[in-house]
Amino acid sequence: MHELGITQGIVERAREAARQAGAVKVTDLFLTITPAADFQPESIEMYYEMLTDEDEMLRGAALHFARASIAATCLACGEEFPTETPRPSCPACGSQQVTFDPREAMIQLTDVGVDDGPQGESAPAGDDSRDEPAPADPPAVPPGGSTN
Ligand SMILES: [Zn+2]
Repeated sequence: MHELGITQGIVERAREAARQAGAVKVTDLFLTITPAADFQPESIEMYYEMLTDEDEMLRGAALHFARASIAATCLACGEEFPTETPRPSCPACGSQQVTFDPREAMIQLTDVGVDDGPQGESAPAGDDSRDEPAPADPPAVPPGGSTN
C-alpha cells in the first residue's frame, strides 16, 4: 500500500509546482521511475485518480512515466554501476547480489504541464502578446487526408 503515500507526495509536489507557475490546472505530470521502484505505474495512476478526484486543479492530468537509471553497488566485489534493470548483474563479476543506492528516490516528479487559464485577464501590460500569424495557404493535402 505504500504507493498511496508515494502518490500523495507526488500530488503535493504537483500542486506546489502549479501554484508557483500560477496555473489554474495541471494537465500533465512527468515522472521518472528507477529500477528500485517496486510498484507499477498503473497503481500510481490509480491512486492519483483517487486522490485528485475532487481536486479541480489536479484532476484528470495525464501521467507520463519514464524509466531512469539508478546507482547500483555489487555486494560481492564492490563495483558501482548505473543500471535501468530491476535485477541487474554486476558488470565486473557477474554477481546478482546487487543493491541500489537507498538515497535515490524510486519515483520523481520531473515536470508538470499546466494550463494557466484564459489569456488576457491578468496579462502584463505590453503588446507583445504573440498573435500567431494566420496560416498561409494550406498545403495541398486536404484536412483529414482522406481522398475518398
Ligand atoms: Zn561484482
